[in-house]
Amino acid sequence: MKKLLLGILVIGSISSCNSDNITNPSEDVSSTTESSDLVKRGCPSEEIRQEALKNSSELRQRFAALEANTEKFANDLKIGKVLADGTVEIPVIVNVLYNTTAENVSDARIAEQIAVLNQDYTATNSDVNKIPTEFQVVSSGDTKVKFRLVNTIRKKTNTKSWRTNDAMKKASSGGIDATSPTNYLNMWVVGKMTSQGSTILGYATFPESAGLWNDGVVIAAPFFGKTGASSPFNLGRTATHEVGHYLNLRHIWGDANCGNDLVADTPTQTTANYGKPSYPLYNTCSGVQRSVMFMNYMDYVDDAAMFMFSAGQKTRMQSVVATSGARAGLRVY
Ligand SMILES: [Zn+2]
Repeated sequence: MKKLLLGILVIGSISSCNSDNITNPSEDVSSTTESSDLVKRGCPSEEIRQEALKNSSELRQRFAALEANTEKFANDLKIGKVLADGTVEIPVIVNVLYNTTAENVSDARIAEQIAVLNQDYTATNSDVNKIPTEFQVVSSGDTKVKFRLVNTIRKKTNTKSWRTNDAMKKASSGGIDATSPTNYLNMWVVGKMTSQGSTILGYATFPESAGLWNDGVVIAAPFFGKTGASSPFNLGRTATHEVGHYLNLRHIWGDANCGNDLVADTPTQTTANYGKPSYPLYNTCSGVQRSVMFMNYMDYVDDAAMFMFSAGQKTRMQSVVATSGARAGLRVY
């Protein structure tokens, strides 16, 4: 019986991934192994695809998009903005507006600031081991976002104090125009900044502003970098916090009493925290009492008291820099 079947099978060539030549599906395929020298592997997938593409404009569109996307991904890898492990490396332009020499932050201090961002966003910061056990399970680990300084632009100005009105972002108002804000994270370092009489450490635009003339992060020089910065905000974490906003993170208390930060794994908290709180720090929201995650970069504590993002925050940031995200332009030159 097997011999007879074999006789039928070898009449036509056998295709490995469709059954055109096999008329009886109940045939014992293992019988073909007896004549493996006569079987040539063949696969009609591409021919079938070409036929399907010929017949469907929707499929042709999807095919074109697929190939464009594949090429773009390969190109991103080549350029180095998406690293081999999938990390998106955001190119950074630092715009320095200084009135005094001290405000003209040095290249070394800028490098220091970029290094802090890279440590904090990859969870390689030296204080990551301070995360309480309760929160270790929801800590972000490596957020797969990194930063690379591309250019520094410096400009001396007579302006001694800036406000939060974006004047520093326009040459026509004494500032420095953003460099391609779709493709670069622009940071402006200004000497001093106030709002209604209060000192402002920094502020940022959220991803709905991606690519607009005012898109980016502003930081006052005393709170930028580490060496020569002003205690207790001298560990470079004002930038970590502001870049968090730039990547769509909200304040951890949701800017309201027991507000919502749109992240499920950060406990609801009544309000912002300051200074160096000690864990556990209990809040009660909706009748539930538990310690809040005041050590999160998106709270208001001192630089030395913040040292983590949560996994939910990582997801929000990743969605922004994804190929479909609001800040996908950061992956492309
Ligand atoms: Zn903030």
